[in-house]
Amino acid sequence: MNKLNEIFGSNVFNDGVMKERLPKSTYKSIKKTIDNGVSLDPSIADVIAEAMMNWAIEKGATHFTHWFQPLTGITAEKHDSFISKAQDGNIILEFSGKELIKGEPDASSFPSGGIRDTAEARGYTVWDCTSPAFIKDGTLCIPTAFCSYTGEALDKKTPLLRSMEALSVQALRVLKLLGNTSSKRVITTVGPEQEYFLVDKKLYDQRPDLLLTGRTLFGAMPPKGQELDDHYFGVFKDRVSAFMKEIDEELWKLGVFAKTKHNEVAPAQHELACIFTSANIATDHNQLTMEIMKKVALRNDMVCLLHEKPFAGINGSGKHNNWSIATDDGINLLGPGLTPHDNEVFLIFLTAVIKAVDEYADLLRVAAANPGNDHRLGANEAPPAIISIFVGEQLQDILDQLENGMATSSKSTSKLEINVTTLPDLSKDTTDRNRTSPFAFTGNRFEFRMVPSSASIAAPNFTLNTIVAEILWQVAERLEKAPDITLEVKNILTETVKNHKRVIYNGNGYTDEWIVEAEKRGLLNIKTTVESIKALVDEKNLAVMEKHGVLSRVEMHSRYEISLENYIKVVNIEALTTIDIAKREILPVAVKFATNMAQSINKINAAGIGADISAQSDLLIEVSSLAALLRKNIIILEASVAKTVNLSGDTYEEAYAYRFDVFEKMSLVRAAADKLETIVDKALWPFPTYSDLLFKL
Ligand code: ADP
Ligand code: MG
Repeated sequence: MNKLNEIFGSNVFNDGVMKERLPKSTYKSIKKTIDNGVSLDPSIADVIAEAMMNWAIEKGATHFTHWFQPLTGITAEKHDSFISKAQDGNIILEFSGKELIKGEPDASSFPSGGIRDTAEARGYTVWDCTSPAFIKDGTLCIPTAFCSYTGEALDKKTPLLRSMEALSVQALRVLKLLGNTSSKRVITTVGPEQEYFLVDKKLYDQRPDLLLTGRTLFGAMPPKGQELDDHYFGVFKDRVSAFMKEIDEELWKLGVFAKTKHNEVAPAQHELACIFTSANIATDHNQLTMEIMKKVALRNDMVCLLHEKPFAGINGSGKHNNWSIATDDGINLLGPGLTPHDNEVFLIFLTAVIKAVDEYADLLRVAAANPGNDHRLGANEAPPAIISIFVGEQLQDILDQLENGMATSSKSTSKLEINVTTLPDLSKDTTDRNRTSPFAFTGNRFEFRMVPSSASIAAPNFTLNTIVAEILWQVAERLEKAPDITLEVKNILTETVKNHKRVIYNGNGYTDEWIVEAEKRGLLNIKTTVESIKALVDEKNLAVMEKHGVLSRVEMHSRYEISLENYIKVVNIEALTTIDIAKREILPVAVKFATNMAQSINKINAAGIGADISAQSDLLIEVSSLAALLRKNIIILEASVAKTVNLSGDTYEEAYAYRFDVFEKMSLVRAAADKLETIVDKALWPFPTYSDLLFKL
């Protein structure tokens, strides 16, 4: 029992360790920065660095690294040992405050989207003391922001930190106007749920598509998929259970609040959810979670697939980003309380979120876009590409009342009647679950369900923070000028509901009726990543990011370029892999199978006994024509890639061609190959099939 306590956070330079190891004044000073956002006093850095090093060395660490999150979407680290050369040729152990605070990695090999060329390679990593340092694989990792020589953000963390400050400032203004005098800071809280697949390493190694692209580019549907719903919440297989135990333990050591684990809907799919914490720490922890999952899977002869859609026709993976806003003194601003209709603070924040999501739906959409997610959003298990909000019955009723003037009552929660006397009475939740809404209110937070499984959660969160900060700014401006605050609050609530109720939808988001209805309401339905990226350079979005100091115009343009370039590269690799596998693995197998049939026909004919050869000849005809179709489609795809690669000039046009030409042609190749898989001798098939990958673990 005590063991869990001992393990948790044992590799983290956390509050407890700081309290124990830092001089009182240093501890007080760093706490002020962490808790109250006061700027860091650089004179304390040396003391903290030394304490950190001593602690790390006692734990067996030999190196330190600045740990950052460049725009590649993964984390970066460069390890330096603690040793320095002493005069006598021996070593001394050293880690200075300067090394703690600032690093100077060569920035030229990280994406910058044209912010600087390789001649100006200098970049800086800067210590983020609000996310605690930790030891991983014998290295002290120091979470840092990463920026260019000229101060532009080259990472995911910087805008997230800036957005948290922006939201705090505007939320406090509003809170003060509504009579709150106790709260000093407002933070965004985030709890991500991470979905993933596990496959056997030996089978994975035989699939070049998984190896190179993270998803299967070929594969016919197996006779059994997920239709029996026999995997969701099922008992863990031993191998999976061992893996889950190991990740829990590794994550706990790093202070990650790993809480819930379960089997997901698709076979071989699972989920891990963490208890919520500040958006910044949750983002760092989610990066660590993904990294540890991959490593621990390998240790167990498995591979963890984080791709959004590793298997066509089977549910994909997402990340549910649970998001709320809380004060430093413990008030959840999206907590409705027992009588939400008279909870002014809650209603102002709730309607601010509704307005923000409606007005900046395009920004939220791009924050959840990546090439992998294009296979999910709008496909039948994932939320559609339309951004809408689910609020549930109780809040809908209150919003309806507000629209007509004033809210005077809250529908109360009823008792759950199970009609078994031995089972306890329960009160029902005020909202049912809505699994089809991309942005659902779930009792005391919003759950943004569109987020891609493999991506950092920084962008969804800095986007949410910024757009809500903007609406709170508008609220504060009005309230500050209003002669009667109570009346103005009422006016704001009524107006906001009237003007933005179109974004609320409590029905089934997976239906075709909703798509038609959403269009009538004028909601955006941006189906592809490429099209969504345009939002990054839309004037209204540039303005809001600039106004709140989250991303400058230059930084937004750089992200626009990087996102397009990334899309181009991903689809290019997928197309080349498709061609390679189709040409060198699948087509030869089809030819071999055809040859086998032809030889069989010849031999039987030669035997001269008049045996029925119709099976062989039918198969020969079918496989030959499919092989011809496959070859034809490969040639079409090759031509499409060649043409697209040679497009010069506009990155958007090139990305667009990759989506609407190359990508479309890839599916032609796949269709012919998948058909072949269903008729060719299984023993000849060059790699494991969906049945093998999904059911043999
Ligand atoms: P479900 O499957 O019903 O969504 P889970 O337990 O899997 O439930 O996940 C719920 C997630 O919501 C957890 O990560 C939890 O920490 C998070 N959460 C709960 N309250 C808040 C909050 N106030 N702010 C942010 N996240 C929250
Ligand atoms: Mg959830």
